[in-house]
Amino acid sequence: MKLATFTEGGRTRIGVVEDGRIADVGAADPAIPADMTAFLKSGAAGRARLDRALAAAPRRPLAEVRLEAPVPHPGKFLAVGLNFADHIRELGAATPAFPATFAKMPNCIAGPYDEVHRPRVSDSLDYEGELGLVIGRRCRHVPRERALEVVAGYVVVNDLTVREWVNLTPQVVVPKSFDTHGPFGPWITTADAVPDPQALAVRTSVNGELRQNSSTSEMIFGCAELIALLSQAMTLEPGDVITTGTPPGVGEGFTPKRYLRPGDVVRVEIDGLGHIENRVVEEPAGTAFIDD
Ligand code: MG
Repeated sequence: MKLATFTEGGRTRIGVVEDGRIADVGAADPAIPADMTAFLKSGAAGRARLDRALAAAPRRPLAEVRLEAPVPHPGKFLAVGLNFADHIRELGAATPAFPATFAKMPNCIAGPYDEVHRPRVSDSLDYEGELGLVIGRRCRHVPRERALEVVAGYVVVNDLTVREWVNLTPQVVVPKSFDTHGPFGPWITTADAVPDPQALAVRTSVNGELRQNSSTSEMIFGCAELIALLSQAMTLEPGDVITTGTPPGVGEGFTPKRYLRPGDVVRVEIDGLGHIENRVVEEPAGTAFIDD
């Protein structure tokens, strides 16, 4: 099943994508939460309710609605760096013994087809196509062998990064959290439709030129390991998003470096999960403000 968050008629709510159309499940059963995090918190009972509502839900062509990030307001947006063996070979870096975890702040979240900003303070914007997972069950200290049981589903992420700021500071939270720098979607492909998250082809192209072409089989710490490790530190909640690292071929890896420029279109595609596509624009003047 493909679970989306969409806006139509000035209202944002969840829906189910089937055959190029979106089923407005809340129109068939108003008790289904409009918000994805609330829906995921409703657990198996909520999913059963959605399954029952689906047949009677009115459908609209996807082209007539706006797709939002499937979880617009996750409690956590966690990430890991240097997690692909082929990317580490490309960089000549040492294989980490422990995952290089960090966080992207939720302000960076953008929709799957939204414009993203080339910051006014730096021209070093770079793409990182990644597999993301969405937590579906509250959990802590999850054993590795049970970790995939807590996954609601999978998404396509672009972990946009301001490289210059990465190099200016020993931490990456702020360099990876500029507004609009966390687009993901286009929907949550539920875990039952993804038999093996470690066997998915990941491709990133810029203006149609293939830049990244790898597989999640290259991950050093797989989805299950990352969930097990992160849940040793913190309670994971429904709606939390974890993005799992990028393969080789980022702009930083070229000589000369090939950072994103206004007008560029970045597409990240993962087999079975669909694609996201974001046009880079100059950060607009309206981003400078102080509210009353
Ligand atoms: Mg990344």
